Amino acid sequence: DDSPQAQARASNPLPNVKHIIAVGAGKGGVGKSTVSVNLAVGLARTGAKVGLLDGDIYGPSVPTMLGLDDIKPQGSGNMIFPFQVHGIKTMTIGKLVEADKPLIWRGPMAHGAFRQLATQTEWGELDYLIIDLPPGTGDVPLTLAQLLPLTGAVVVCTPQKVAQDDARRAVKMFQQLGIHVLGVVENMSYFIGDDGKEYDIFGRGGAKRMAEQLAVPFLGMVPINMRLRENCDTGDPTANFVGDDKLAEELTHVSQKL
Ligand code: ADP
Repeated sequence: DDSPQAQARASNPLPNVKHIIAVGAGKGGVGKSTVSVNLAVGLARTGAKVGLLDGDIYGPSVPTMLGLDDIKPQGSGNMIFPFQVHGIKTMTIGKLVEADKPLIWRGPMAHGAFRQLATQTEWGELDYLIIDLPPGTGDVPLTLAQLLPLTGAVVVCTPQKVAQDDARRAVKMFQQLGIHVLGVVENMSYFIGDDGKEYDIFGRGGAKRMAEQLAVPFLGMVPINMRLRENCDTGDPTANFVGDDKLAEELTHVSQKL
């Protein structure tokens, strides 16, 4: 077996991490980071030790979604300590560069930046490391596949046809790299209006049908929800609100299917 994953298994740089799970998407803006953050926090709430690596080196969302604005990164030697927030450990390029600096990486630089974030963060022992990938099928997923042995990948998709087409490519990319596809999450499935009615804005079920066609598991539907948007912007992950929030239950339910 000379697949990228076979190489990664042979030289695993993170032997203290039990399960590494990548979250990818065909397109940007479909909710990949939202799902990554809530998967991580949802898993941590079950008692697991969880890390979240913001591998979206072009557009890191984790600083905002986890409310890292006022925290400074600290390190020792050539290792950096992850931020400990909301019950998880996390690292993001967004806290290592100026906030408004464009992140322009050539292929080899993208490779290096991702590799450093993954291997020079002091993760310690983890049950799960969730990796939020950049959208699409570029350099970073390839680097990841060669570097770290994955338990699997989750693909996030909205229901419309154009999003499905790209998500299908993402599913096939993971399979080609020798990475098991754990399943597809349909985000922005539907919207519940003030009238209590459900509106299928993007055509609910499109991503579910795509998953069925590709014979990969379907992990769940997340509705369009104003609270979820607000929680992303204020750095309070929705999965934290389990017990008093139906949406939080749904997000946690997705993490429990992994
Ligand atoms: P991606 O990582 O795929 O680019 P994000 O997770 O960053 O997408 O999502 C972009 C923004 O869209 C989030 O910051 C959030 O404000 C909003 N968003 C995502 N999913 C939902 C949802 N289900 N309901 C409401 N807003 C959402």
